[in-house]
Amino acid sequence: MNAKKTTRATTPATKTTTPAKKTAAAKTAAKKAPAKKTPAPAKKAAATKKAATKKATATKTTAATKKAAATKKVAAAKKLPATAPQESRTALVRRARRINRELAEVYSYAHPELDFENPFELLVATVLSAQTTDLRVNQTTPRLFAKYPTPEDLAAAVPEEVEELIRPTGFFRAKTKSIMGLAKALRDDFGGEVPGRIEDLVKLPGVGRKTAFVVLGNAFGVPGITVDTHFGRLVRRWKWTEETDPEKVETAVAALFPKSEWTMLSHRVIFHGRRICHSRKPACGACPIAPLCPSYGEGETDPEKAKKLLKYEMGGLPGQRLKPPPDYPGKPAPPLAAG
Ligand code: SF4
Repeated sequence: MNAKKTTRATTPATKTTTPAKKTAAAKTAAKKAPAKKTPAPAKKAAATKKAATKKATATKTTAATKKAAATKKVAAAKKLPATAPQESRTALVRRARRINRELAEVYSYAHPELDFENPFELLVATVLSAQTTDLRVNQTTPRLFAKYPTPEDLAAAVPEEVEELIRPTGFFRAKTKSIMGLAKALRDDFGGEVPGRIEDLVKLPGVGRKTAFVVLGNAFGVPGITVDTHFGRLVRRWKWTEETDPEKVETAVAALFPKSEWTMLSHRVIFHGRRICHSRKPACGACPIAPLCPSYGEGETDPEKAKKLLKYEMGGLPGQRLKPPPDYPGKPAPPLAAG
């Protein structure tokens, strides 16, 4: 009985110690448990994220600041006196003529960039120069003129043979039709001679006003303005005119200069367009007429970077003519096989 009593008495005591032990163990486990340490990497990740966001914001701010500074620079560059929105007619004429004088000094050797020996060769070469470079035409015409030196020879040619010879200039089928057509017209209507009047020249197949003025100005000494892609782009950059139609550009520019300047002005402007004032990357930082140009800053203004954009003799490279005039300061262009 006594023993039973003792057992009964001790049993509840044992029961009460179990939860206490459990609590202590739990406390110890809680102290030791590595699971409770997980907030450390989480904290680290959060810190990294915060740092990345900070960095991104800083990068964004730097880029934005740089962009703003560049925009400001271009805007400042554009605020040259030449941008005067209300330029008077007299001021425009003066500025245009000053640009022409500056260009005359820079390009004292300006000339047509097609090789030719007579009006017929210049006429054919000019027709061939559509949609290609003068260099490519100059590399192509020596063989053509060696085989067909006169309008009569070209008029009597086998079209497929002409096509093969002028293939490097592109659009060779259409161009063959044009040059053979004009050779026939010269033979049949003008006694085998190139006429020296604009109204006759524009009647020839494939001959527009631009071609006619090139021939008149350079083979006959008749003053003319040649509005090609370079000429149109530059005179609009200089705010000489807003016109885009070549004939209107021609009229507007002609009114700013005496007739005697027209032909050489055309060469100088085209030289400048090909060497410095390019369509997509004008080399403003290396441009001698920058102080007179309302579009300064449209291209590269850093002098060193701009210098690298210069072409032909300005960039120390060969020119477009295989037979340039004696005063040309650059190297002659290479023939087709070597080019
Ligand atoms: S290169 Fe620049 S500064 Fe020179 S004419 Fe062209 S746009 Fe004007």
